[in-house]
Amino acid sequence: MIKLSKPYISEDCIDWVTEVLRSGSLVQGKYVDLFEQEVQKYLGVEHALLVSNGTAALHLSLIALGIGPGDEVIVPAFTYPATANVVELVGAKTVLVDITLDDFCIDTSLIEAAITPKTKAIMPVHEFGQAAKMDTLMEVARKYGLYVIEDAACALGAEFDGRKVGTFGNAGCFSLHPRKAITSGEGGIIVTNDDEVAEKIKIYRNHGIAYKNDKMDFVAAGFNYRLTDFQAALCLPQLNMIETLIRNRLESAALYDEGLKNIFQIKIPVSFTDRRMIYQTYHILLNTDIDRNKLILALKSKGIETNYGAQALNTLTYYSRKYGYCADDCPNAVRANTQGLSLPLGMHLNSQDVKNISSTLIQLVIKR
Ligand SMILES: *Cc1c(COP(=O)(O)O)cnc(C)c1O
Repeated sequence: MIKLSKPYISEDCIDWVTEVLRSGSLVQGKYVDLFEQEVQKYLGVEHALLVSNGTAALHLSLIALGIGPGDEVIVPAFTYPATANVVELVGAKTVLVDITLDDFCIDTSLIEAAITPKTKAIMPVHEFGQAAKMDTLMEVARKYGLYVIEDAACALGAEFDGRKVGTFGNAGCFSLHPRKAITSGEGGIIVTNDDEVAEKIKIYRNHGIAYKNDKMDFVAAGFNYRLTDFQAALCLPQLNMIETLIRNRLESAALYDEGLKNIFQIKIPVSFTDRRMIYQTYHILLNTDIDRNKLILALKSKGIETNYGAQALNTLTYYSRKYGYCADDCPNAVRANTQGLSLPLGMHLNSQDVKNISSTLIQLVIKR
């Protein structure tokens, strides 16, 4: 079976984890510090803070910016539900906005219509490793004085206009889950250039503890959202070679493009000259007359693991019950959810695998 994704664990990863285990110093140590410094350098940001997962990163960002009951937060309707769940967890209201089918990111032309006097923030998602349209989005945010929290969970290294995603907003959040390009098993990163936000995140990830003159004080009701040092040690060698990992993804994506571009039942990912897509996922859109779920099973029987891309939040029980959303509210999100297909990608594939997957897919799509 060709897996949809597989972590790239080098011998360095294993050696460095072993070193931490032998040292006996397991939580927030040397490798967490090193990892945070490397992310600061890679993204060119003032602060990078490791936390226990990508959802914790999003949750702490909202808390650090003071978003809570009475506030509204704009979220794209097509994403992993964690993006909106954290809005609900801080007691704010999720306002869903549809996506475009070219980038699977928030349709920035629809944002202004969703803004009310209660709107506090926009949370763009850089879906599948493609940057959302950040120029228009930041313009709208500035015009209405809104915070921007970027869900860059799958987009470490992606760029818009030559600038890395996660660095546009008040906070940028990344995930280190095994499904992403680099992984610590579970893990998350928050980046920000705002000293005050960084300070609050440090306090809230560590039980509400603040240090003054080396004296410990409990100044807030915080969480334990820390990362262990062996998780940071597992991921640091991957971070150090992230450009190699991304290049491998770009090469496979180019091969998929070449193989699938003339198949009219399949819409391949759109390339934008002003964005650098890192292909956390190679996600295609199938014609509506193709039964996507049947296709997933057919591919599985041929030894190829594929999956749907993301959820349409407007159709999930929680969001439709609470806010009365229906499928028609965000039709593109629904279309992407029912007709989208993620193909295998990563260091576990060679170019022949990619070509075989493409031709198997074409056969199944054409001769139904
Ligand atoms: C993976 C992902 C998350 C959640 O990250 P975890 O590390 O699994 O908590 C949130 N948003 C998006 C867009 C993701 O892809």
